[in-house]
Amino acid sequence: MTGTIVIAATPTPNGDLHVGHMAGPYLAGDIHARYLRAAGHPVTYATCTDDSQSYMISTAAKHGTTPAELCATSTARIQRSVEAMGISLAPMPPIDDAYRQAVLDFVTPLYEQGRFELRTVRMPYAANAGTYLFDGLVKGECPACLTESCGGSCEGCGHPNHFDDLGDPRSVLDPADPVTSREVTVLVLPIENYRQELTAYYAARENTWRQHSRQLIREILARPLPEIPITVPSPGWGIDAPFAETPGQILYPWIEAMPASIYSTWKADGEPEGPVDQAWRAESGNSLVYFHGFDNVYFWGMVDLVMLLAHGDRYLTPDANVCNEFYELENEKFSTSRNHLIRGADLVAEVPRDLVRFYLALTCPEDQRANFTREGLDKVTAQRLRDPWNALADRIEALVTDPGEELKVTDAGRRRAAVIARRFQACYDLTSFSLTRAADGIITQLARLLTTERAEPGDLLMEVRTFLACAAPILIDVTAEAEARGVELTLDTGAETIDAFLLPRLPGSVRSDRSTR
Ligand SMILES: [Zn+2]
Repeated sequence: MTGTIVIAATPTPNGDLHVGHMAGPYLAGDIHARYLRAAGHPVTYATCTDDSQSYMISTAAKHGTTPAELCATSTARIQRSVEAMGISLAPMPPIDDAYRQAVLDFVTPLYEQGRFELRTVRMPYAANAGTYLFDGLVKGECPACLTESCGGSCEGCGHPNHFDDLGDPRSVLDPADPVTSREVTVLVLPIENYRQELTAYYAARENTWRQHSRQLIREILARPLPEIPITVPSPGWGIDAPFAETPGQILYPWIEAMPASIYSTWKADGEPEGPVDQAWRAESGNSLVYFHGFDNVYFWGMVDLVMLLAHGDRYLTPDANVCNEFYELENEKFSTSRNHLIRGADLVAEVPRDLVRFYLALTCPEDQRANFTREGLDKVTAQRLRDPWNALADRIEALVTDPGEELKVTDAGRRRAAVIARRFQACYDLTSFSLTRAADGIITQLARLLTTERAEPGDLLMEVRTFLACAAPILIDVTAEAEARGVELTLDTGAETIDAFLLPRLPGSVRSDRSTR
């Protein structure tokens, strides 16, 4: 394959994916992948579950289950939600011995080449439990913004914290367990060793980062750069580190993301012969793009990049990290523990999937926090999408007496169709990627197509056909229906004639149909 590898942040299988996750990386990655595929470009859209995370331990303890059981149930739910929303991710591979071998094959050469350094650090230590605390096992005061944060990186400000950086650390598993600080010797990878490469990399891709992420990267670069833990004392979960200097330790879970993505790509490509990492090799000619949340900018945007750079020029580096902010539900944070959430699968059982995808695209949190409301979904999709769409279908039905009949297209029709195509392409390209603008484009073009008079019916149909092709990455079902009826979903706007077609109608949601009766 010479094409694009699209990676969505690896979901932690400590629960299902809800609408807030969908409106973040998963739908955005799907729409970008669909856009590229429609243009004839090979795409692998992959991810896998992030089983080794310490959050598995804390969530399992809360539910009175084991991390392994929690993994199994959550992975099945995540897979089901992804499919229900029409997210065109390859099936997520099982996290098994072959996966763990792929991780070791990625990390061990770096160890052998002397990229890692031994450090004696201080880590929070839960005295009663007798365990070192990191990531999801610890909470404390973020040194960068002073709010409560877990270990690793701060959900609020995005800044990293490692080892004993958190102020007033507490054990998540047992807040009453006195936390002290203890020395331990671990392997680290100093990011400072890669400052020059990082600076050049960010400068070259400046225009693909959204403003807030760019600012965070700048802030992190302005200080001494952190050292990435490569190993941490084992909490009894994770991949055992195979290094003589660090007995009883695991690989720091976050450093699995790159081998996990490489392995997922290989599985998604059908396990081609040759090395597992061949699609990720610099000489492959492939390009790479990540979709993830702002809270993962430090890990996916810096740590994982350094993990690739540490291999010299062996690997691709991403052309872009498309980052989203937080999505709220009815003006409150999505919360699994309080059951304040909507699962994608539940929503699409009530509302046609195209309407859900359209509303999430229109309201997704690209540059700042955004809000989902069920009332908004029903109102906006009915008034701005379904009603004008179906009115346009009526208009075309009145115009087209003979579907399949060849109609003449004039220069004016071709020119307008090309303008529509260009407007949408700008929304789907990485340097200006925006689902909210693409969804807004659907609204504005619909309104225009519904009212403008055309001397030639072929001109209107040419514009509508181009519009359908542009809307197809978002509205996957109605455009597939059009295609099944013979409409060619092409952005080629140069044709002299067009075969007349009827526009399939958009169904309404169960609830809004009930209310209008
Ligand atoms: Zn913070």
